[in-house]
Amino acid sequence: MRQDMIKLKEELELRGLKFTRQRKVIAQKIFSMRKHFTAEELYSMLRKKHHVSRATIYRTLDVLASMGFVEVHDFGQGRRYYESISGKTSHCHFICTGCMKIIEFPSDEIKDIINRMARKHNFTVNRYSINVYGLCEECAKKMKKQPGDA
Ligand SMILES: [Zn+2]
Ligand SMILES: [Zn+2]
Repeated sequence: MRQDMIKLKEELELRGLKFTRQRKVIAQKIFSMRKHFTAEELYSMLRKKHHVSRATIYRTLDVLASMGFVEVHDFGQGRRYYESISGKTSHCHFICTGCMKIIEFPSDEIKDIINRMARKHNFTVNRYSINVYGLCEECAKKMKKQPGDA
């Protein structure tokens, strides 16, 4: 079993929750994904092969989020996006408000600024996530705006 699955099993047991077959299937899928996804997308990926219900998906995502295995993003537009933080470092997102494309990028410069600010405010950083909203190349072309114009 993968390290994160072992950790999940332990965390569930600590809370008196069972590591059910369905939870296992959902967690395995989530931990294998590098991209951001919605609950509905996850549901359509697992529904056919594994017969997991929509309710189980939502409940499991809540549990995983509360235990810190997944991060919940509100990228606007009323949709919640989830992301497995297993094996990932903190990073930033460019979010296209035209087509909801998400471009992920790590930045050492931003990390340095955050660490510097944290020291100034005596704050201990666990992780961060920065969201920048705008238009991707294709959408910007459609809207005839030049990149970089704030
Ligand atoms: Zn776009
Ligand atoms: Zn991300």
